[in-house]
Amino acid sequence: MTARVLIVDDIPTNVRLLEARLTAEYFEVLTAASGQQALDLCEAGGVDIVLLDVMMPEMDGFEVCRRLKASRKAHHIPVLMITALDQPSDRVRGLQAGADDFLTKPIDDIQLMARVKSLVRLKVLTDELRARAITGQEIAVEDAIPATESIDADGGHILLVDTDPRGAERLRGYLAGSHQVHVLADPAEAAAAVGIGDYELALVSMSLGQFDPLRVCSQMRTLEQGRTLPIILVADEADRARVVRGLDLGVNDFILRPVEPNELAARVRTQIRRYRYAAELRRSVTNTLALAVTDELTGLYNRRYFDRHLAMMLDKAREQGRDMALLLIDMDFFKAVNDMHGHDAGDAVLREFAVRLRRSVRGVDLACRFGGEEFVVLMPDTDYRQAQNVAERVRTAIAERAFEAGGAGRPLAVTVSVGVALNERPDDTPETLLKRADVALYRAKRAGRNRVVFDAA
Ligand code: GH3
Ligand code: MG
Ligand code: MG
Repeated sequence: MTARVLIVDDIPTNVRLLEARLTAEYFEVLTAASGQQALDLCEAGGVDIVLLDVMMPEMDGFEVCRRLKASRKAHHIPVLMITALDQPSDRVRGLQAGADDFLTKPIDDIQLMARVKSLVRLKVLTDELRARAITGQEIAVEDAIPATESIDADGGHILLVDTDPRGAERLRGYLAGSHQVHVLADPAEAAAAVGIGDYELALVSMSLGQFDPLRVCSQMRTLEQGRTLPIILVADEADRARVVRGLDLGVNDFILRPVEPNELAARVRTQIRRYRYAAELRRSVTNTLALAVTDELTGLYNRRYFDRHLAMMLDKAREQGRDMALLLIDMDFFKAVNDMHGHDAGDAVLREFAVRLRRSVRGVDLACRFGGEEFVVLMPDTDYRQAQNVAERVRTAIAERAFEAGGAGRPLAVTVSVGVALNERPDDTPETLLKRADVALYRAKRAGRNRVVFDAA
């Protein structure tokens, strides 16, 4: 995972030190010697994360951070603020300015890498969501993708694994104002708790008596619900080596005791935000996929989906020597509906038709809008007689009762013609099957419409 990191510091030696460490880890580094220069670079684009020194002449780090977070072009870039060790009030001011995380001087290598990587992960997800939101707007499905800004990091569900009741109570107290924290005193139950709880973050103490905290983490990770769950270790200075091991194993971050409340709050917020972004992203991918295979007007599957599905089902039916039937349905004199009642009424008829169609076919049948006022139903494991039953049921469901779509007091009589083909020939392809259904449909039209005709294979 690589990224472009902007180092902002007025002291060249500090810049060079950080630059050397980050380039050694294959990060790309940009530098700025002043706040204004940093703002310009961020607004120009291409910066993934900002390492921002607090102490700078002219514009200090807080002001730079405030302006970044107020900028429409740069507010989504994570800011890692670098403060002096003995200035907890700096962190509060940093948080108020919108900083995403902190590092204290002198900067520790492991902390630097853990923080930078954690924020880069967050940025990757934010970028992806922003890109999708933009594409979403282009294809006019804004509803499917809420603005990334609407995702906050409050009210998180946190699992705290700690065998020390007093330490656990203290940590819980730090977080209880913004989150729901469940304390688990028995690490042996951690994986099970993750399995049943709706957690968005696990805080795991590294002092768990006889339990190995890293084993607890890896057990949580093996579960479906735990695979993407953010984990933060709460460690002592003496745990350093195992923290590194934990980060290698996929732990997301760590915090050292004595735990500073603001620092904890910032780290928890970053992880929960990332988790929620990822969940939102998965949801929007699912939506996008659903949109790609669904016909907008009727909610039925679309032609694209049908084409792929037909090829697959036909192969399967042939392999297993099973029957398969295909209905091709075309509305009768539909042009006249549009001409007499308007296009909107025509659309309403198509929608109502889809509802009736869906009710008339079986669960295993696949109903699709083939295009315009033509529809197909693909029926696996279906012989001649069964196909005839379903086709007749569809025809009747349309013809037996007028459609409401004509407007108040003007129900519309609608009928359909149906062509049916079965996969009776060993060399049938999707094209030949469709062609035969089409020929049958044509004959149904010629014979007077509102009827079912079988292909005479
Ligand atoms: P036939 O019984 O021979 O099938 O006559 P028909 O009028 O249904 O056939 P034709 O293919 O000439 O006309 C189909 C009409 O369906 C023309 C087109 O305007 C209308 N149509 C296709 N798609 C839509 C749609 O999405 N909405 C509306 N309202 N009308 C549509
Ligand atoms: Mg028609
Ligand atoms: Mg037609």
